[in-house]
Amino acid sequence: MATLDQIEFDGADLATALSVVRSDDIETHPGVDRFAEHATRAYLRACSRDDAVLRPVRDWWVAQRILPSMVWELYAWGRRYESGDGALREFRFLRLGEARERGPSEVAIAAFVAAFGAPASWPQPWSEPFRPSGREGAERVRVIEVGLADGSVKELLDATAQEVEEYFATHGRTQVVEIAHGEALEPGFGCGECKRVAVCRGPVRTPGLLGVESGQGPLRTVSISGLRYHRKCPAQAYLRAVHLPRSYEYSQEAALGQAVHAWLEKVHDQQRDGCDLDAMPDAVSDWSAGDWRVTGEDAAAGARMLARHVEVCPFRDAPEVDSVRVEPQLTFLDLVARAVVVAKPDLVYREEGRWVWRELKTTQKPRSSFSDPLEEYPQLALGVTALAGDALGPGGAGRVELEILRPSGAEIVPIDPTDSERVKTARRVLREWAGPWREDSVFDARPGKECQWCPVSQWCPSYPGVGPEQKDDETSAEPGPAAASAEG
Ligand SMILES: [Zn+2]
Repeated sequence: MATLDQIEFDGADLATALSVVRSDDIETHPGVDRFAEHATRAYLRACSRDDAVLRPVRDWWVAQRILPSMVWELYAWGRRYESGDGALREFRFLRLGEARERGPSEVAIAAFVAAFGAPASWPQPWSEPFRPSGREGAERVRVIEVGLADGSVKELLDATAQEVEEYFATHGRTQVVEIAHGEALEPGFGCGECKRVAVCRGPVRTPGLLGVESGQGPLRTVSISGLRYHRKCPAQAYLRAVHLPRSYEYSQEAALGQAVHAWLEKVHDQQRDGCDLDAMPDAVSDWSAGDWRVTGEDAAAGARMLARHVEVCPFRDAPEVDSVRVEPQLTFLDLVARAVVVAKPDLVYREEGRWVWRELKTTQKPRSSFSDPLEEYPQLALGVTALAGDALGPGGAGRVELEILRPSGAEIVPIDPTDSERVKTARRVLREWAGPWREDSVFDARPGKECQWCPVSQWCPSYPGVGPEQKDDETSAEPGPAAASAEG
């Protein structure tokens, strides 16, 4: 955004704009710099055809209503353009990674502010209201989305102001009212940057959850996967955390694990009486679950694993079970570590009033020599400290379970979160994972042979291989062995 501002409003060329932004006070990760350059080029290339007829608009478009008790303001994040006479306004969303379906309410809000908003500069300080002035609205509005990785352009809406009003009434208004009343709480990866996190009831307060004795610096967000990436390579963890586009990252084994997870998620969503064999894929044909499709020997192995689940399904012959949540996203706020922790256990539920936290691991390897599951799977350690800290809500701490599915059999490894030795070990394990991450402020790359499988290596200046343009062609052919399948 800052680079495009330099080019569009200050008349800088690309090289000057990049060097001005890089010399700013805020130091950015070299991988982010590399992506910013690629993204700026892609954006300029994608939009060059329009820029003869549309001019960039620096001000925000703000729809504002001043009520006795509050100021109601609506605006959207993106870039803004208009025709010379102001009759046409175009709002452009910028997309970092893969295409995803942009919700109609997002489109409705962007279109509404373009159609009816007035220009206003960003308030200083932010707590002040916008002061819109000048021409309100336009006759015609276009909303498009520009992909910064591939330079693709997608039109989302092209409508008159009146059509926009109708579209907003259908898709935008309810959403806006929910947001204004604070009903639409969606705690998660965004909490770390939110100014209201300290007073919000979204994330669960869990001081000491990560076992880190005292964290310094600004609040940061992490998941157990993020800690795994950090241990492998801090630069990879960082570039993933800021959501840079990734190349395909699943090995065949990891994709099979994802498919098994997705299948169980579906059957557990549909029934709570215990899985039976009829609910599982048969072992002689290919099958798919969610976005995952498995074929041939993988399909057969996966079907045999799922058949084994029936023996250990948590709802089979279970005593009283309630509050079942399948693959929920849980958000915790650990102010000792100064971290927002986002976790996605495979299953949580209450059994006779006590919480159970279950993680699933699929493997085709025979059981290896015995090691402490808390050491091997830090997500189990997180489950233990979360249950020990009453983080799931009313109810006692029941147990943390690791379900291991192999084509040859199923196994449940239970861990007791009321056993003080287990809690102590869990805290120590988490501290060993989270401590180095919390202390890191530079996120240096650790280049090595793993780089060839790293899904963000194309943005990493330390990547010893080919440059980003060439790599695009190569990565799709050979996905590497990534992502432990026990993680969400
Ligand atoms: Zn089941």
